[in-house]
Amino acid sequence: DRAMKLLQKVFKNEHQKTVAKHQKVAVAVGLLEESVKKLTQEEMRAKTAEFKKSIAGGEDTNSILPEAFALVREASRRLRGERHHDVQLIGGMILHEGGIAEMRTGEGKTLVATLPAYLNALTGKGVHIVTVNDYLSRRDGVWMGEIYNYLGLSVSVINHQESFIYDDSHTTKTEDSERDAEGSHHIVHEFLRPVTRKEAYAADITYGTNNEFGFDYLRDNIGYSVDQIVQRPFHYAIVDEVDSILIDEARTPLIMSAAFGDTADLYGTCAKVAEQLAPETHYTIDEKRKAIQLTDAGITRAEELLGITDMYTEAGIRFVHHMETAVRAKALFIKDKEYVISNGEVIIVDEFTGRMQPGRRWSDGLHQAVEAKEGVKIQEESRTLASITFQNYFRFYEKLSGMTGTADTSAEEFLKVYSLPVTTVPTHNPIRRIDHNDQIFQTELGKWKAIARKVKELQIKGQPVLIGTVSIEKNELLSDFLKSEGVRHEVLNAKNHEREGEIIAQAGKKGGVVIATNMAGRGVDIKLGGSHPTKEDYEEVKELGGLFVLGTERHEARRIDNQLRGRSARQGDPGETQFFVSLEDDLMRVFASDTIKNMMGRFGIPEDEAIDSRIVSKSLENAQAKIEGLHFDSRKDVLQYDDVLNQQRRSIYEKRRKILYNDAEYLNSIVEDIAAADDESKDMVEAARKEVGDGDFFKAMRVIALEMIDTLWIDHLEAMDHLRSSVGLRSIGQRDPLVEYKREGLALFRGFDNAFKNRVAGLLPRMSQIVQNMTGTIAPAYDPAQVVEIGGGEENKNIGDDSKVGRNDLCPCGSGKKYKKCHGQ
Ligand code: ADP
Ligand code: MG
Repeated sequence: DRAMKLLQKVFKNEHQKTVAKHQKVAVAVGLLEESVKKLTQEEMRAKTAEFKKSIAGGEDTNSILPEAFALVREASRRLRGERHHDVQLIGGMILHEGGIAEMRTGEGKTLVATLPAYLNALTGKGVHIVTVNDYLSRRDGVWMGEIYNYLGLSVSVINHQESFIYDDSHTTKTEDSERDAEGSHHIVHEFLRPVTRKEAYAADITYGTNNEFGFDYLRDNIGYSVDQIVQRPFHYAIVDEVDSILIDEARTPLIMSAAFGDTADLYGTCAKVAEQLAPETHYTIDEKRKAIQLTDAGITRAEELLGITDMYTEAGIRFVHHMETAVRAKALFIKDKEYVISNGEVIIVDEFTGRMQPGRRWSDGLHQAVEAKEGVKIQEESRTLASITFQNYFRFYEKLSGMTGTADTSAEEFLKVYSLPVTTVPTHNPIRRIDHNDQIFQTELGKWKAIARKVKELQIKGQPVLIGTVSIEKNELLSDFLKSEGVRHEVLNAKNHEREGEIIAQAGKKGGVVIATNMAGRGVDIKLGGSHPTKEDYEEVKELGGLFVLGTERHEARRIDNQLRGRSARQGDPGETQFFVSLEDDLMRVFASDTIKNMMGRFGIPEDEAIDSRIVSKSLENAQAKIEGLHFDSRKDVLQYDDVLNQQRRSIYEKRRKILYNDAEYLNSIVEDIAAADDESKDMVEAARKEVGDGDFFKAMRVIALEMIDTLWIDHLEAMDHLRSSVGLRSIGQRDPLVEYKREGLALFRGFDNAFKNRVAGLLPRMSQIVQNMTGTIAPAYDPAQVVEIGGGEENKNIGDDSKVGRNDLCPCGSGKKYKKCHGQ
């Protein structure tokens, strides 16, 4: 522990050093302010052009940083009345250096990003700014688009299936004085003109979600024409809410898949067998790792019920995988917690936001297993065409950076996995938040009762409360308790999540009580006094102590708790936070030390009376740190496995790209490779070339090679997947599964190469026929109409902070209707 403290001190000093170094540059930026103020817009744009030229001529971005930052600051001050604070300049420098800036909620990270985005876009190579949902990418693209445009850079927004370019030329500009106090725009859609995906990616700066950037990458690599490729080489990315994307969702793969039709009824069978297996006797549950393990007795029983003699043979592996998945579905996936059933479909509930995720499916057969368990229709099995995890996608960028209010507790992971150092940036105003000790109860019931009493007290006083829960199920439960105490409140649940941003934004109103899941409405501002408070409203709530954030359970990661706490006391406002926990909470059940349990039992404390103890809070945090470590290890583990496939993917996609772009040299090398196999192949090849002529021969070769690569790649992905589950089983035999996976993965990849050559060679005798039938278009290895995207945390339906939209503006949901006629009703 002392070593830990020492380490923390060292880190703290590192932060201070980094901040102090940047502070000097911030002073330099400040000195340029007066001269920049004198520039007209034309002169500023000329500066942009001049910077671009000197960078093209070899100038380093660092040497123009002070002047570039000064320009952006001045443009923002002029247009929006928001002059970047010094701490925001420092944040911008951290991002420019390719690090993570930890800046608290409300510190203005959206504005911070404009500094490095402008500077790095001067290279002409494109900057991506990554947000957690479509709404926020539109909001930020529009808020900030004005600044970039003013300085002569183009800005785009990519949303789910639609793309825009920022364009304010058709909008009558309001005078500065007519703008509201924040100087910000209300209108979202009037500034966004639809463009093609490719045009959007050609912009200097592009806002979009991690899902959209990732899926575009996959789409670019399964398409059949050069025109379909939309992305440019990966240059620089700024990831907002970086912990949510690179840690919480790191392992989530983005998958493009298509139905291929051949479903087996194994799911139903295995679900029935799983039903008859009992915990402990037939399988053990590892709640910490979210895994199950069949016991010897369980395996025997399953074999009996399935009517097979041995599951652990190469042929039986299929059963093992399905059986384990069925048991996982039974033991670890609980209805109305991990998923809900709606219209006969299993709909995933997001663990962090509590939101329903229609259209999203668990991979690896888990979704089908849950469908089988619930007795609803099992969706057709589909095959993966392409996939990538966020971890791997974001490592493509030449330079990566990120910002969030909560990075520090995961600093080690950011550094080790992504080489991203975390620097905590001081707040602009001193922090006035009071974090109270946890209140600890013996039973969950006691806890809910006490929460209801506490909230009632606060409501009577008028202090607004935001209550964070771990699931929508808990939202409803707590709502009932509040009703019985007569507390007026709003519940954010799976049904009204379209209004999530709006509801969250209102949480600061006097007397307001909002129940929401911990991560709901991330990125949305909670102002004291309501979403558009008058000065009096604001002052009144401030007098009452600001927003009270009440956590109802500790999350496994401290980061998520801190995220919730960070909702309170923004920008130097007052605020309070407190967690109410019980010994029956998941985290406590699994991790709390027996000391705590004994202690409470021994003192005979009534169930709805709390102990408020520093020691217990500390021991909880230690438990959390332990779990964070476990999760980190498991993510690291996944990454190591993932790396194997990642290298293969890069190599195949590179080859595919060459073929797609009709790289003559490469196509020739394929042909020569085939000819080199043996004399017979050589004579073949030569005969075919003679017969159809080189022109047609290579045209046909290109088509064949593309189709072959795709078909084989789909098979290969599946084979690697099977390998992955089977090496896990083999670890019983003392062998390191990762080493096995690497070795056999390489063998499979070589096999891929051979199969490719053989299949192409096999087509050579029919070359003239193929050439005759050539239509000029390529028949894809899959049916494009069947392709679905499966990806993590899809929040595309999220409408977000509607409160910023005027009644007569277009609704940000994209319906084309006026807001008052649509979501504003
Ligand atoms: P964060 O993402 O850090 O939580 P936001 O980017 O959502 O914060 O900004 C919070 C609020 O602060 C916004 O209303 C924004 O307009 C305002 N803001 C940010 N920077 C400044 C500034 N330098 N001066 C005035 N207001 C600012
Ligand atoms: Mg933000």
